[in-house]
Amino acid sequence: MLFGEYPVQVTCGNCCRTIVTKTRTARGFCTYLAAYIVCIVCCPCVLIPLCSKECKDVHHFCPSCGTMLGVYRRI
Ligand SMILES: [Zn+2]
Repeated sequence: MLFGEYPVQVTCGNCCRTIVTKTRTARGFCTYLAAYIVCIVCCPCVLIPLCSKECKDVHHFCPSCGTMLGVYRRI
């Protein structure tokens, strides 16, 4: 099962229900890589990738039991 940027319908391995995943973004390798590149080009802009959703990994959780079901990584 491949998780993407948006919620997906899966069967939770913990509570065995068919659910649509709840997503939450988190800083990942891509975020820091983007921040590093931006820092070289334009130091004051370094906060843009750190705050931008587009550069973050997406964690998928079961809305029923809260188990993390997968992670979508940008890189
Ligand atoms: Zn569950």
